[in-house]
This record gives sequence, C-alpha cells and structure tokens, in this order.
Amino acid sequence: MTKSASHDVIQPAQAWERITASLRFELGEATFNSWIKPLKFDRLDGHEVTLFAPTRFIRDWISNHYLDRLTTLWQTENPGILKVEVRCQPQEQGSVTSEHSDAIRSKHLKEVPSYKERHSAFNHIGAKLDPRFTFETFVVGPTNQLAYQAAKSIAESDAVIPGSNPLFLYGGVGLGKTHLMQAIAHHIQLHNPDRNVLYLSAEKFMYQFIQAIQKQDVVSFKAFFRSVDVLMVDDIQFICGKNSTQEEFFHTFNELIDNKKQLILSGDRSPSDLDGMEERVKSRLGWGLVADINATTFELRYGILQSKVERMDSLTVPDNVLTFLAEKITSNIRELEGALNKVIAHAKLTQQNVTLDNTQLLLRDLLRSNEKSITIDDIKRMVADHHSIRIADMHSARRSRNIARPRQIAMYLSKKLTQHSLPEIGRRFGGKDHTTVIHAVRKIESLCDESPEFREDVELLTKLLQH
Ligand code: ADP
Ligand code: MG
Repeated sequence: MTKSASHDVIQPAQAWERITASLRFELGEATFNSWIKPLKFDRLDGHEVTLFAPTRFIRDWISNHYLDRLTTLWQTENPGILKVEVRCQPQEQGSVTSEHSDAIRSKHLKEVPSYKERHSAFNHIGAKLDPRFTFETFVVGPTNQLAYQAAKSIAESDAVIPGSNPLFLYGGVGLGKTHLMQAIAHHIQLHNPDRNVLYLSAEKFMYQFIQAIQKQDVVSFKAFFRSVDVLMVDDIQFICGKNSTQEEFFHTFNELIDNKKQLILSGDRSPSDLDGMEERVKSRLGWGLVADINATTFELRYGILQSKVERMDSLTVPDNVLTFLAEKITSNIRELEGALNKVIAHAKLTQQNVTLDNTQLLLRDLLRSNEKSITIDDIKRMVADHHSIRIADMHSARRSRNIARPRQIAMYLSKKLTQHSLPEIGRRFGGKDHTTVIHAVRKIESLCDESPEFREDVELLTKLLQH
C-alpha cells in the first residue's frame, strides 16, 4: 500500500481526536476549552473537512485565528485535504441544543420554588440576581478567560477548590465582574440547590453589619454568615477605609476560609492596590487565586454584540453597525451594550431600519467621549521628550534647527490632532502668529513627502499620542 493510499482510508473521527489532542497540548487547557473543545467534527467530503461551531462568534474566531493551524493538522492526517470549513451548527428540529436546554432550565427554575424562596433570610440579606447574568450569556475572550474559567470551575465544584479560595476577581468598571459572580450563584442554585450561596455587595455587607450592631444582634449576624457555603462579596473596594466593617469582614472571612467555605470577592483593583485596606487583610485577600479581567479587545466587543443580537429575534442589525460599535466604543461593555440598546430602541420607535448613518447620528455624543482627546500640552510634552529638548523651548523664539523643527512638528500635530484653531495654537506656542503655524504645517507636510524616515517619525509620534 502506498503512503497516499493509506491516507485515503483515515478514519476522520479518529483523526479529529488526534488533532484536538495535539491542539490541547499546543494551546493549553484554558484556551483549548474555550475555542477548540466546543467544535464538532461534521464530515470529510472529498477534499474538504467541515467542523461545526456552536455559535457564530466561535465560528468567526476559529476562522480568523486557528484555521491555518487546523488545515495543517488535517493535512498531516491526509495530504489530500485542501480546505477546512467551520460552520455554525444547524439547529435541528426536535433536538435539544444547548440554547434550548438553557431555556428549558430557566423555565424550570421559575416553576420550582427557588432556593431563595425557601430561605427567606437569604432573600433578605442577599442581593437580587439579574437573570441575564449567566455563564451562557457571558462571551469569553483572551481578556476574561482566566476569570471565566476560575468562576466556572468553582460553580461546578461541590467543594472548595484548593488554591482558589478566595477567588479574587478584579478589573475596571463594566468589564463583567458582577456578571461572573452572579453566574456562579445562578449555576449553584440550579445544579446544587443544597449549597447555600449568597451574593451581596460590600456596601450591603456593611449595612447589614451596622444594622446588627444597632439591634445588638451581632451574634446572629455572625451565625448567619457561618451557614453560608459560598459567599460572594462584590466591589470590596467600598469597605476600604471603613475600619470597623473591615474588621468584621476580616473575621467572617477568616472563619469561612477556615471552615472550608468558598469565598469569591471582586474589586476594581488588585488586592495589593486596595489603599485604605489593612495590610493583613490585603495579604489574605491575595492568598487564593487572583484573576484579572483586562480591557476588552475588538473581537470580544464584536462577539458580545453579536451574541446579544442573536438573542433578540425581532430586529436585524447590519454587520457594519456591529463592527462600527465594536471599534468605537472601547471604554467598557456596559457602555457598549447601552449603545446597542439605544440604537435598537430608536429603530423600533421610529420604525426605521438600523443603518450606519443613523447609528452615527444617534451616538455622536457618546462617540465623542470615547475618543481619547489629545491636548496641546500632551503634544508638547511628547515631542519635547522625543527630541530631547525642554518644554520651555516650545515657547521660545529660538530658531536653531534642533529646536525650531520639533516646535514645528508639535504645531503640526496640534493642528492635526486637536480641534484648536490656528490662532489659538499660535498663542499656545509662546504667542506666535497664526501664519507661523500655517508655515509650520506646510513645512512638516513637505518634509514628510520628501523623506520617508521623517514621515515615519511623525507617524510614530501620532500613534504614541493616540494610545
Ligand atoms: P462590572 O461588575 O465589572 O462593573 P458587569 O458585570 O456589571 O461589570 O458588566 C457590565 C455589563 O456588561 C453587563 O450588562 C454584563 O452583562 C455585560 N458583560 C460584561 N462582560 C461580558 C461578557 N464577557 N459577555 C457578555 N456580556 C458581558
Ligand atoms: Mg459590578
């Protein structure tokens, strides 16, 4: 049998197993679980392999990031394979897809008396959970993958996970901390209803504690918290500087950890950066697993928008609008969702289609605040630094080239990157006339045309200022 003949008879399902095993090794467990594991082998048809992805987001991500690697791996199994195609899994009638079963599960959740209804104290002390904040609606990308995996494994475990107690989630506002914590609570309530799970904000914790002191009932306050299996306290930065609450929190915290209860905390900073928190508390907060949620990437923002749109059956939002929003609204996910909701609400109200034009119009204020505004002072500082001259030289009348040239560059960038008028720019550079600014702009433009090195240098400064 020739080599190629033996390739013709590969068992594609087994080949797929070998390929995934190799990717698991290459990519590591977390990345593998997020992206490759959800894929299913569909068929090998002539020269083409088809894989199924559960969502459009995963399909697109795989197509953009892993397709070459997948193709190579398939070709080592069978050199006759020319193409690997990733498609969305078709929703067969009658079959229970994961989205279906989620719907069924959440219906089920409503009919059975919930955990909280059975435990009125929890109802009283815990915060109301937002039904939208589940693992199913959480879109995973490289910036939140660690936090997601950690949250998921705690939610799925029956006991404390060694090394993950406490789990400390931190990241800027609107990046998904509360969403993940509540997802843990939902998951446990649904799958492990005997586990007492309590989610509350640090503010609410503080309030409860003060109430308990006023009612002289600190003993039952403590007893109550001892009865919790999984305690989640959100936005822990609120108890920084509040000494008596901190003290009580610290006791509760130690007691729960010692009794092998799971703790999950969130903050807007890492434990060591929590100013106004006592050192011993800070250090204990960092004992377990500290997982950060980083600023979003374009792919994640786009994926979140897509997944939101997919969940709404009523209205279509064209792809260029999604791309536009994901590119422009970079501050946080809450704002991104807000923008999408606004666009959709407006379209419904006016009974118009969503288009790029009306989106731009509708969101112009929001978009402006998302654009990083560059000031003339930023420009002076950056250019002076880059050319090793003093900022004061920007204002001087000195004409030696090593000073005059950077000054002209700074004027040029001020014209390009800010909204200031020419006379205003002149004034800000030591009271010069607007014609001096025009001259500077023209001079720099012509130097850029003449010399690619010079142009690159100016472009670099522009990029540095924009990021
Ligand atoms: P934080 O608590 O970090 O300030 P939230 O958890 O309240 O942020 O998230 C803000 C909004 O963004 C919520 O509506 C949440 O559902 C949404 N969100 C955040 N991260 C994701 C994600 N990865 N996938 C889907 N939605 C997300
Ligand atoms: Mg929050």
